[in-house]
Amino acid sequence: MVEQGLDTLLDQVASLRTRALRFAPKDEDLRAGFRQLTHELEQLRQARPVPRAAYQQVSRWLAAFLDAEQGAALANPEHLDARAEALHDAIQEKLAQLNRPAHDAGGLNGDATRELSRCLEMLNHSAATMAADALPGALSQALKRHLDGDDALRAELSALTGAMRDMLDEVSTMLAEVTDEPPELKQTAELLQQELPDDPEAARAILQSAQQGILEAGRKLASAAGRIKATVAAQGDKVRELTEQLEAAERQALHDPLTGLPNRRKLEQFLRKLPDAPAAFVMADIDHFKRINDRHGHDAGDEVLARVGGILAGGVRASDLAARMGGEEFGIVLVGASGRHAFEAADALRRAVAMADIKCRHGKVPVTISMGVAVRRGDEEIPHWLKRADAALYEAKNGGRDQVKVATA
Ligand code: GH3
Ligand code: MG
Ligand code: MG
Repeated sequence: MVEQGLDTLLDQVASLRTRALRFAPKDEDLRAGFRQLTHELEQLRQARPVPRAAYQQVSRWLAAFLDAEQGAALANPEHLDARAEALHDAIQEKLAQLNRPAHDAGGLNGDATRELSRCLEMLNHSAATMAADALPGALSQALKRHLDGDDALRAELSALTGAMRDMLDEVSTMLAEVTDEPPELKQTAELLQQELPDDPEAARAILQSAQQGILEAGRKLASAAGRIKATVAAQGDKVRELTEQLEAAERQALHDPLTGLPNRRKLEQFLRKLPDAPAAFVMADIDHFKRINDRHGHDAGDEVLARVGGILAGGVRASDLAARMGGEEFGIVLVGASGRHAFEAADALRRAVAMADIKCRHGKVPVTISMGVAVRRGDEEIPHWLKRADAALYEAKNGGRDQVKVATA
């Protein structure tokens, strides 16, 4: 929830306030300034339905950097070394929060969030040991390492993180202004420490000037709070827009445009992340698909691919994955499935395709698929596992097609 994100941000401001007031406990104006800042953020929370995903990103960064120690460390690179340990601990804590499985509806999906958080982790590790102006280099290295050479995705992520950095720079500059005691306050305090002259005119002049000093200090704090509010709002929009672009690029990189199914790359990711539990892999291939293309045309062939893809994806559990591996071949991962169940699940998919009413402009197109199933062995390597499914598929083709074979070898 955005409101919870703002809660975190407000908490960070509260912690900053505690630290600042420890240094200047009697500073009523500083106190008032923080009251004002908190009030402004509170209003922001009530006024804007900032999208959750964008807000989460913004608030994470703000939460990490609004922290007084980190803010100070970033502002003074020469102090980074001395504070590295505390900075590191704080960042670890933020990352632990970030990695909690809170990727519910509306947010970045789990993979994107994890990728991003790994990048941020690298970036933040670097922040603990190097000067702030070396960070962009570390960022691009982190991106390179984690994005498997996908240019589009890398460009979007780098734009997103770049925008967040810009925002942080602005906010931390403004915060430095807010937390610095306005000079007018000091001057006013000095003025008021003097004994007032007996001359009422002179006394009034001093009081007037003190009053102006207080007003000026208050105006500065209020204006900084206002600018922070405007920056958070404006940059929040920008970050949301970039987050959406990132999600679109990520979708493109991991999905097949014709069927909308996950592609081979996504399937490989999914297989790598499978838990250590039973699983079956099903290799499915449309029978005599070349004939369908030849008889009805390539467009009808495309339509058949999309329909079959839809049937397979719709026929597996949410925790399973049906992907288009290329051409007229699909790969299905059945999580938790062992022997008998894997065969039954695959055969149900086969029957669903055979019974589907698939039409093109020349009329009904009969479509069947053949399938090879392999249940994963204890610590079997993924390529070996898939090869066994492929061999079973070959058997199904040889056995007359429109059937499921389970690998035994
Ligand atoms: P089998 O039952 O042995 O699998 O025979 P098949 O005809 O399905 O297999 P084959 O590998 O000979 O032919 C596959 C055809 O799929 C050839 C290729 O032109 C076609 N194909 C691959 N990708 C696409 C696509 O995206 N759209 C269309 N329409 N056809 C495609
Ligand atoms: Mg085929
Ligand atoms: Mg084929």
